[in-house]
Amino acid sequence: MLIAINKAHFPVTVLGPGRRIGIWLQGCSIGCPGCVSRDTWATDAGRNMPLAQLLAWCRDVSGGQLDGVTLSGGEPFDQPLALAALLDGLAQWRTGAGLDFDLLCYSGYPQARLAERHPHILAKLDALIPEPYVDNLPLARLWRGSANQTLVPLSERGRRVYAPYLDAAADTLSKRMQLAVDGRRLWFAGIPARGDMERLEALCKARGLQLDDKSWGRA
Ligand code: SF4
Repeated sequence: MLIAINKAHFPVTVLGPGRRIGIWLQGCSIGCPGCVSRDTWATDAGRNMPLAQLLAWCRDVSGGQLDGVTLSGGEPFDQPLALAALLDGLAQWRTGAGLDFDLLCYSGYPQARLAERHPHILAKLDALIPEPYVDNLPLARLWRGSANQTLVPLSERGRRVYAPYLDAAADTLSKRMQLAVDGRRLWFAGIPARGDMERLEALCKARGLQLDDKSWGRA
């Protein structure tokens, strides 16, 4: 089984509680205006990797010391077979190693559509953040990019872990973005507030760093 991946990182601390593995799937057919992750939109066979390799990386990079796994993108549900297999692999690791991390997934599809088309995938998740990003709605709640997006616990573990955060304000925690440099690529994790990316560009420019291509801003 192959899965198309944009990037993966550990620890991610801005997309769910605790220290998490973050996996961004490649490919999104939704195209929300104002999306800050346009680099994840294209379907790109060059981004395919064996699922077993990704699962081995998860085990190695975290050493089993993780609070959760966050799946984002791109649109994870645009690869339903690979997404289901990834969740199965993560759940098998969790059970086999006696761990208790949670599985959180973002989606730009409405919750009702996911419940209708992918109930078997929702059954594998502990929590879901569905609905498209809406650029003219404010950043209101923690880990959600626009006020229409909800945090939906889907399991007993999900209800336990996410109960304190369902209506938490966007700035409940001390930071909302992480930045990393990978070769000539500067990338971020998290939920930028309106104007954050422009402020980041200005900071880079003030330090002599020219950004040639950006995943944010209107196409
Ligand atoms: S916000 Fe998410 S669902 Fe919307 S276009 Fe961007 S990657 Fe796709």
